[in-house]
Amino acid sequence: MSEEFKEPKPDSPVQPVSLALDDRFRFRCRKGIACFNKCCEDTDILLTPYDLLRLKNRLDRSSREFIDRYTRDCELDSHGMPGLKLGHRERSSACVFLTPEGCGVYSDRPAACRYYALGHMALRKKDSPTDEEAYFVVKEAHCLGHGEPHEQTIRDYRIEQGVDRYDEANREWRRIVLKKRSSGPAIGRPSQRSFELFFLASYDLDGFRAFVASEGFRKVFDLPPEEYARLLGDEEALLQFAFRYLKQALYGEQSIPAREQVAVERLARQRERLAAMAVLSDEERARRQDELYESLLDEDKAPGGAA
Ligand code: SF4
Ligand code: SF4
Repeated sequence: MSEEFKEPKPDSPVQPVSLALDDRFRFRCRKGIACFNKCCEDTDILLTPYDLLRLKNRLDRSSREFIDRYTRDCELDSHGMPGLKLGHRERSSACVFLTPEGCGVYSDRPAACRYYALGHMALRKKDSPTDEEAYFVVKEAHCLGHGEPHEQTIRDYRIEQGVDRYDEANREWRRIVLKKRSSGPAIGRPSQRSFELFFLASYDLDGFRAFVASEGFRKVFDLPPEEYARLLGDEEALLQFAFRYLKQALYGEQSIPAREQVAVERLARQRERLAAMAVLSDEERARRQDELYESLLDEDKAPGGAA
């Protein structure tokens, strides 16, 4: 079912009609169309962690090498949460992977490229356990695909473009970003350390693998040897573990068991500090909360840990 927005922005290419999976829309992109490559000549593409995983492996680069060579820094919110966008070709705003024959990384292109010419939003209502998905057609003047005589459902378009796998792999990360965006002002500006941790676990998968393999990590976390072997040998599993780790370190959502003695000692220290904070002003409490967060990270000698 479609639903009209009350106040559409007149200059936006996003069409003010929300579509569901079985709604149909008219669009087809094909080689030979007069606008071929136009959409990749002026890009602003936000990368997800799974985009990076696919692209770095396709190009046989480490995550660091890929980041340095093919991406641009950006901020995901007004507090400076770090993000990455796809790089541009020298002295232009064309995508770094654009070739005269089309996309140079087509079968591993990012989720945003797969979605085009659709916009996508996932919303969760208060007290609802599931997200609600909504889609919007994006009609840019240069794109002639909207005039092609071809209609399909959103569902079929998603299958054709292979976005399901990307959405599934990035689902928990999107939730972390939304929660981090919305919790920022409540506890003051997030610490630089929390941003570094977020960047490592989101984008630098090779760096995160080295961290999980480190002695410091094994001292703090109690995982069976076969789980270590699985994480160190399977990048998609490691990425999902990185999101679990972020939720534990940033939000205290405990899912990775800490070694008992380490956990008991940390809990005692944390209780002491929280008791001291209870008598402070709101401002001082927010400041100390940030300090507490940083000190918990330092205790692990690692960029995060079970609090
Ligand atoms: S990755 Fe490919 S599809 Fe995406 S903007 Fe670059 S060239 Fe275009
Ligand atoms: S039809 Fe649209 S998406 Fe396809 S090449 Fe042309 S501008 Fe790009």
